[in-house]
Amino acid sequence: MHCLDFSPYAENLKSHLETRGIQSQMSMHPFDLINRQPDNTMSTVIDGKAFAETLRSRIKKAVSELQAKHDIVPGLAVVLVGENSASQIYVRSKARQTAEAGMQSFEHRLPENTSESELVQLVEELNRNPQVNGILVQLPLPAQINSERIINTVNVNKDVDGFHVESTGRLSIGIDSLVPCTPAGCLMLLKQAVGDLTGQHAVIIGRSNIVGKPVAQLLLKEHCTVTIAHSRTRDLPSACRQADIVIAAVGVPEMVKGDWIKPGATVIDVGINRVADNSGKSKLVGDVDYASASEVAGAITPVPGGVGPMTIACLLQNTIIATCRQRQIKLPEAIS
Ligand code: NDP
Repeated sequence: MHCLDFSPYAENLKSHLETRGIQSQMSMHPFDLINRQPDNTMSTVIDGKAFAETLRSRIKKAVSELQAKHDIVPGLAVVLVGENSASQIYVRSKARQTAEAGMQSFEHRLPENTSESELVQLVEELNRNPQVNGILVQLPLPAQINSERIINTVNVNKDVDGFHVESTGRLSIGIDSLVPCTPAGCLMLLKQAVGDLTGQHAVIIGRSNIVGKPVAQLLLKEHCTVTIAHSRTRDLPSACRQADIVIAAVGVPEMVKGDWIKPGATVIDVGINRVADNSGKSKLVGDVDYASASEVAGAITPVPGGVGPMTIACLLQNTIIATCRQRQIKLPEAIS
């Protein structure tokens, strides 16, 4: 078993706890806190569900403000091709939450055998439709359709997913862009947990275009030192142990163990993996082994209830940002 020497981290952890207002335990030596019993978990749970609820209520206010001041109701179009069951659930939630925020929701469901040119045609129609301020084409698309072509057919000003090559380029050179939703949600949760991120060493596990790479760009912009790890990284546990912030976006259930985490570090678990539980039913777990990691981390997101709920909230926020840019008006106070 890997044996960690926690003592070098003890002082850091003490100040970390103090900034979190954990005063009552400060008479203890920090080392005692690190070596606590399993039922004495000290991690702060980063409650993405509650944060997303608050964000959605601000978004609702922002929508009312746009309507009252400018007679604008933002519109979000979501396109689903095929029968992928996870995608159907996501699209239903997106439509419901769009309507609950007071925005217009346009849903387009196309059959599995839709051709690439038919989908291009629909996206071009949505690009021209002035009622539609944001367009999201649910991924993955069926094999006969080139996803990259579809993503880049979306008008960049309506690219609320932030996957268009121009949005990606703008993000990477640090200028205004529509930011991909899950990475934007991770950043909000991190800032809530840590505050100023300047100088923090972040290790991101995963280099996908939709999570790992944009998260890295966002954290660079926040003046973090960023390491991006992936399937070819040598000695990933050691790399993780250097991190003040670990972001896991891998797709491997419970891969990141507690002894990979530096005591007091902040852990953001992006993973959503469905696995069988002891009774044979299925349950959702993240890419982090929550039970062991929460014994060591200073703050950690749960799965479910962490990053997941932030994604749709950030999508709604992007729709408002896109609307305001298209109409060349200021962002409503509620979300600025
Ligand atoms: P991808 O499959 O596109 O990317 C996974 C990344 O993890 C790759 O860069 C891959 O490396 C790396 N990786 C895979 N296995 C290992 C390993 N054993 N060690 C180190 N790195 C490894 O996944 P996504 O980025 O799309 O998604 C990641 C996770 O986040 C999934 O669980 C997904 O369900 C979840 N997710 C959650 C969202 C939310 O709303 N909360 C939204 C999007 C995704 P390499 O590049 O070398 O292959």
